[in-house]
Amino acid sequence: MSDLLLLEEAVHFSVSDSVPPLFIGVHYGGRYVKVGIVDSEGQTISYFSAPGCSERNPAIELKQIAELIDYAVTKTGIDFNQIPRVGFCFPGSISPKTERLYYPSNLPNWYDFPIVDELNKALGRYVTVFCNDANAAAFAEYWIGAAQGMQSLALIFLGNGIGCGLVIDGDELIGANGFGGEFGHIIIDSSPFARWCSCKKQGHLEAYASSPAVARRTRELLEVGLGSSLADRVNERTPLNEIPRMVYEEANKGDKLAEQIVKDTAKYIGLGLATLIHTIDPECILIGGEMMFGGKGSKVGEMFLNEIRNEVNARGMIDLTKFFKIDFAKLGSYACYIGAAGLAREESLLFAVNE
Ligand SMILES: [Zn+2]
Repeated sequence: MSDLLLLEEAVHFSVSDSVPPLFIGVHYGGRYVKVGIVDSEGQTISYFSAPGCSERNPAIELKQIAELIDYAVTKTGIDFNQIPRVGFCFPGSISPKTERLYYPSNLPNWYDFPIVDELNKALGRYVTVFCNDANAAAFAEYWIGAAQGMQSLALIFLGNGIGCGLVIDGDELIGANGFGGEFGHIIIDSSPFARWCSCKKQGHLEAYASSPAVARRTRELLEVGLGSSLADRVNERTPLNEIPRMVYEEANKGDKLAEQIVKDTAKYIGLGLATLIHTIDPECILIGGEMMFGGKGSKVGEMFLNEIRNEVNARGMIDLTKFFKIDFAKLGSYACYIGAAGLAREESLLFAVNE
């Protein structure tokens, strides 16, 4: 490999112990790229990651990604010609009609980029299946994760934005124009004073419950002088992306304001979920992403989930949580590349049936 620096490299088991055919799942997140070689049962044979640089020209970035994929194939000891499809996921929506990206708010250089065409060119073969990263993660949870055995789920991804992946009757929901599952932009406040979202519209859930939104709300509460141990840690120079972790840590120590910020975040999410559940009635809702307030089994994480459940029930036509579970996702940061490989497998199966 020329000038790609590897962050992580792991071959978990031998190709001879895998269930063929094999698929490649790629997750590009702007600051990193992850490549996994996954067998037909969703087991990861090998995994590689490298830094990304979304400020760079996308065509050059894709060339580097293609190099990492080639490197992964070689290190795993397989022949690329035996890989029927490569699944690629990205934090943005793509038009199913033009195969170009809509405006990905965190990656402005990639606006309107013809990603499918350019990725195939970079790889030198027409094997790519493209999907949104939240959709890929949802598919992974459906395939081998917390929703295994179910037919429908919604995965809510909390981080810099709020992503959402939907699987309905075993298929991911994309929508006619690629906007299916844009749950982060569901409206939870229609007042003229509603907060502004990253999409430059008002009142969207992302403006209240994404990681930067939680950070901003925390600063506002501290600025009015509410007593909290957070006041010793958060100031105007504290990076926004570090504040939700501090909120979790202080809530875990029993700080009341930090607990309230977690509960308020849950309330906003529950408010949005009530609308989503009344619309699609999934078998389960999974919460994943970088901002899980300690996640499954932790005191604060469980409080967060319970507050979401309470809000859903308070807003639902009946107690909706009697009918399905709200839980944390299981596959963590690996879900996206596993799901991308799974979607590549799905398309490969469909292609074989139609041939
Ligand atoms: Zn929005």
